[in-house]
Formats: sequence, structure tokens, C-alpha cells
Amino acid sequence: MAAECGAGAGAMLASVSMVEPQLPQPDELERRVRELFAAWRVADCAVTVAWNGRLTTTAGRAFVRRGHIELNPRVLARAVDQVDMVLTHEAAHVAAFRLFGDAAADHGRHWRGLMRLAGHAPDVTHKIPVDDLRRQARRRSRYVYLRLCGACGDRLLAAAVRYGRCAGCERRDEFLVVRAPATAAGRKALERMSDAEVRAHFA
Ligand SMILES: [Zn+2]
Ligand SMILES: [Zn+2]
Repeated sequence: MAAECGAGAGAMLASVSMVEPQLPQPDELERRVRELFAAWRVADCAVTVAWNGRLTTTAGRAFVRRGHIELNPRVLARAVDQVDMVLTHEAAHVAAFRLFGDAAADHGRHWRGLMRLAGHAPDVTHKIPVDDLRRQARRRSRYVYLRLCGACGDRLLAAAVRYGRCAGCERRDEFLVVRAPATAAGRKALERMSDAEVRAHFA
């Protein structure tokens, strides 16, 4: 049963393209989590992993009931060698919940045991420098975002990025997002950007 987890069951979730070039794509990360689940004997290996550019200084977080993990591309682009540790940290939260239920305390002995099994020290916090990101978040600089659906080309200009269903093709998570300062000039620059120019940011 658990052995199926590592067998690349073809992730059903499309990959989010809002990723720093050197960071692994979500489907690769999902494959890695399924490998971990197999090693940890977690029977239910359904999991989704996404990069979330709205996270400020948190390296990652886990939604254990949904089996969903989010990673911070800005923080992890600074320490690509720590992606696996952070991913394993969050995967171990999901695994601890599936194996031991609510009784498993956040960073309790079950979680620590899973981390050690995976070959990582059970550190609770990361040591990647993020003071500037924290300051940035406090300043709450305002941007305007252009969201382009990578599947159908539907465009949306908005003050906040939304990741729901695309109005054009109903798909999720195929979005390419670029931003500019929330000024008239910034807005105009985004309006003028061609699809190819947006895509070029992610090539
Ligand atoms: Zn944690
Ligand atoms: Zn679309």
C-alpha cells in the first residue's frame, strides 16, 4: 500500500509557474513528499505542494487536513540547499497527522522521529536570513499584479493575486504573475506587457 506512494502516480495538480528559476517545480516536490510518505509508511500519499509568493518570512507551512504544503520562494531562493529540509519538515507535519491524528503535537516526538528517519535534524526554525523581508512586509509596499493564465491566456490586473479558478478555462494554478508599483505608470506598464513578455519572465 505505502509502496505506491513513491511510484510517481502522476501529480494531478498543474504546476504553479510563479517560481524562481532555480527552485524545483511543484510536481518534483510532490514526488519527493510521496517518497518520504512511502519511507514513513503513510498509506494515504495524496499531497499537493505549491510555492506561495505571499509568505513573508515563514519558509513553509502545512495544512495537515488538506494535505497541502506551501513553500516560500523568496526565502528558499536564498538557501536552495535547504529546500529539502523545509519540505521534509512540512511533510512530516502531514505525515504525523495521518499516522497519529490530532494527538501528534506540532513539533512533538512523532514529528521529530519522522524528521530523524528522513535524515534531517528536527530543527523547529530555519536560519535563513530574512530581516530585510520582514522589514519589507512591515512597510507593506503596494503593488499591482498582472495574472496571466498559462493555459488559456486569460489576463487579470488586480491589487492582489488570486489563485482560484481561471475565468477563461476554469483551471487552477497555471498562473504566471508579474507585478509593478501600484502607480498609474506601473499599471500602464503591465497593461502594455504582451503575453510573450510575461512568459519571458519565467523562461
Ligand atoms: Zn513545523
Ligand atoms: Zn485559463
